[in-house]
Amino acid sequence: MSGGNPCLSCGACCAFFRVSFYWGEIHSEFQVPDALTEAVSPTRLAMLGTNQASPRCVALEGEVGGCVSCRIYSNRPSPCREFEAFDADGACNRARAAYGLPPLGDHPVAA
Ligand code: SF4
Ligand code: SF4
Repeated sequence: MSGGNPCLSCGACCAFFRVSFYWGEIHSEFQVPDALTEAVSPTRLAMLGTNQASPRCVALEGEVGGCVSCRIYSNRPSPCREFEAFDADGACNRARAAYGLPPLGDHPVAA
């Protein structure tokens, strides 16, 4: 794949994993919108739509594999901030494969 951010034409991880986090993130500097979450334990929330058999976060705009965006990008919770394309454990490529998207190769090296 050539340069650029592959996430802008992917979004697979937002429609593959349960996105759960400590409930306090709705009151942290992230200010995750409470209305877009549901409780999954006494201390943890999940993004709405991700705690189900066929996950899809309600904040994901667009179709997976097309032009996508997160409508709460500046307020997204910590798992979204920490999740990386070109990750070492292959989670990104597992999500991509579920949608028939090709795996990302090695992390591009800046010129
Ligand atoms: S699955 Fe990988 S490439 Fe796709 S949006 Fe998530 S981190 Fe980006
Ligand atoms: S909050 Fe945004 S980045 Fe996180 S799973 Fe939902 S759409 Fe994706």
